[in-house]
This record gives sequence, structure tokens and C-alpha cells, in this order.
Amino acid sequence: MRKQITILGSTGSIGTQSLDVVRAQGYSVFGLAAHSNTELLMQQIAQFHPKFVAVVDDAAADRLVRELQGMSHAPILLRGKEGLVNLAAMEESDIVLNAVVGIAGLPATLAAIENGNDVALANKESLVTGGHLVTKAVEEYGVKLLPVDSEHSAIFQCLQDPYSAKSLKKILLTASGGPFFGKTRQELEHVTKQDALRHPNWSMGSKITIDSATLMNKGLELIEAVWLFGLPAKDIEIVVQRQSIIHSMVQFSDNSILAQLGVPDMRIPIQYALTWPERCPGPAPELDFSLLQSITFDKADEETFRCLAACKRAIETGGLAPCAANGANEEAVRLFLEDKIPFLKIGELVEGVLESDSFGGDYSVENVYECDAAARAYVLEHA
Ligand code: NDP
Ligand code: MG
Repeated sequence: MRKQITILGSTGSIGTQSLDVVRAQGYSVFGLAAHSNTELLMQQIAQFHPKFVAVVDDAAADRLVRELQGMSHAPILLRGKEGLVNLAAMEESDIVLNAVVGIAGLPATLAAIENGNDVALANKESLVTGGHLVTKAVEEYGVKLLPVDSEHSAIFQCLQDPYSAKSLKKILLTASGGPFFGKTRQELEHVTKQDALRHPNWSMGSKITIDSATLMNKGLELIEAVWLFGLPAKDIEIVVQRQSIIHSMVQFSDNSILAQLGVPDMRIPIQYALTWPERCPGPAPELDFSLLQSITFDKADEETFRCLAACKRAIETGGLAPCAANGANEEAVRLFLEDKIPFLKIGELVEGVLESDSFGGDYSVENVYECDAAARAYVLEHA
């Protein structure tokens, strides 16, 4: 039987690259989900023949109904946020790859796990906002949570030997440094959306590209690593590796270090999440060492890039603090992309929200959404 895959966020950067992997591996597509890009979704339907599609936006779902009329073997359409969750929950999928952007991905991650589906997780915001709910559900339902984020895939790959994994001492989480590496706060005062959207090594969706420019992405990844690998934040060191060739490293109790290397191509970690524990030939190219001039290392500048410091503080505070930082960031990035706030304001708002409350304690899924809404309201009030 061919593996049945469901891809949530199939029209995005990770979603389309996941479909490259699916094509290369000859997997079968069970379900696809998007927010509103029905044009691309229609092309994917024609090519991959999913049994189900979910469209979150109402007007887009209406459009798709019209476009699917008369199509032979048309997929069944599920609508709205509920449709996304229902698709994630369907037990016929062997694995659900969640590549939705933002906290909008959390309900689907939980639904997939609670219905016994393994999850390949690109949507880091699921772990940042609901880390303890997601990890508890993974344990309770006995499913696999496979990282897609390149750094976390690298760490996961370095921890495959269970004997070594037991003596994990430290994680060296690599960062490209983004388009503004080496700049001062003064130099960043007037950078534009176009400047921030120009990432040196990776081509990604606009939200994560801005997160990479502010280093919020590295902060979110630090929190993601705490939940995935169980080390406290103090044992996760950020190492700037400008060329994005070393995707992360782990250090064991004897101070031996293992790293995972490769071209910066997300299809490698996506494929590893889908084929794990096996490795297979895939669409990503080889790393050509003869073209590589150097591999450099630097320190991350937390004074200039406030989001990273804020995320460290959030995970150390615990409870809902990471959720608040994430909600504030999502809203601030939206405002920055609409030219409503300057670049540096994003970090100030994320820091500001953390100062506005105590956030400690255990939490429920309702608390997560309330905290997210409160953080967004804080941003709108202070922008
Ligand atoms: P994109 O913006 O390119 O794609 C986002 C996808 O999610 C699209 O399919 C979009 O649909 C869909 N979507 C957007 N909003 C909603 C919503 N409210 N409900 C349901 N679906 C929605 O993002 P990326 O692919 O870059 O990133 C996806 C996730 O993967 C993020 O969490 C990101 O942090 C993570 N990630 C991305 C990497 C990358 O290289 N791009 C690397 C590592 C992690 P539509 O097209 O219809 O709007
Ligand atoms: Mg990453």
C-alpha cells in the first residue's frame, strides 16, 4: 500500500515542496488544505487527486465548489476552520504534514494527534503556543511527532542512536542571522518590508521571512526545541552559521559534537519526516564542497534583535508566556507587512507583551486562544 499523506497548507512554501517530495516518493495524497489560494489548489487537485480538500476562507470555498462542478473524481470539500480540523483528524491518513502558518495550525495538530495520526510538523507555532498540550497528547495517543523545521530535523537526525541520545548535554541551534546580520539598531530604523523579505539563503513564506529578519524565528525555534528534545533553554545555544550548511548540532556528555549538513533545501527535512526511519533518494541536490568557500560561525546579537531575547525570557517564564510572545509577533508582523509599523517596533511589541502580565502556571487549550487574543489586542493598542 502506498503511504497516504495529508498536507495542511499545501499551497504555501513548505506545502508545495512537500508535494515535490510526495511526487518523488510516489506517495498517495489523501487530503490537501489551504486558506484561500484556490487557483493553486485546483492545480494540485488535478495533479494529485486527493480524496478530501479543506478550504478555510468562505468565499474561496464557494469559488472551489464552482470550479469542482463537473470534474470527474472531484474531492470532497470541507469548509472553514472546522473543515481543516476534520481533515487533520481523518484516520485514513498515515501522516499529516502540518504546514499552515501561525497559531491557526494548532487545532489541526491537536486533532491529528488525538485521532492517532502521526504528524510531520512544520507549523512551529503549534509547539510554541501549545507545547505542553501537544507533547502531552503525543504521549497519550502514542503517535510520532516528526520535525520538519530544518534545525529540528538536523537535531533529530543527530539523535537517532539511542545510546548517544541518552547523554545529550547541549543543542547548538544554528541560525543564518537573516538579511540584517551585523546591523545596528540605528541602521535598522528605516529598513523596509522589501529589505526584510530578502533572505540570503532560504525562499519561504512572508511571515517566516520577516521572523528570520527579526530573529523571532530563532526564538520560536528555541522554544520548539525545548518541547521536542526536553532540554532547558539554558542548554540550547544559538550559533550563527551564515551559509546555512550546518543545520544544527548536538553535544553529548563527553563533549563530542555531531552535526547534520546539506544544501539549504527544505525538501531534505520534509522528506526525512515522511520517510523516517528510512532514508531514500530524493529531489534535493548534493552539497558541492568544491563550491563552498567557507563555513563561518558568529554570535547572535540579542541586544539588536530583541525578539530572540524575548523568546528566551518567555520560555524561562513558562506557562502562556511563549503563546503571548507568538500572538504579539503574528499581529506585529501583519502590521509591518501592511506598512503600519516600523521594523524595530515588532521586537518592542513582543517584549512589551511579556512585561504586561505574569503568564505562569499550567494551561488549557481555551487559555491558549484567550492569551493569543489578548496579545493581539495588546499589539493593536500599543502599535
Ligand atoms: P506560507 O505563507 O508560504 O504558506 C502558508 C500555508 O498555510 C498556505 O497554504 C496558506 O494557504 C495556509 N494558511 C494560511 N493561513 C491559514 C489559516 N488561517 N488556516 C489554514 N491555512 C492557512 O508559509 P510557509 O510554507 O513558509 O510556512 C508554513 C509553516 O512552516 C510556518 O509555521 C513556518 O514557520 C514553518 N516553516 C517554514 C519554512 C520554510 O522554508 N518556508 C521552514 C521551516 C518552518 P493560502 O495559500 O491559501 O493562503
Ligand atoms: Mg528553521
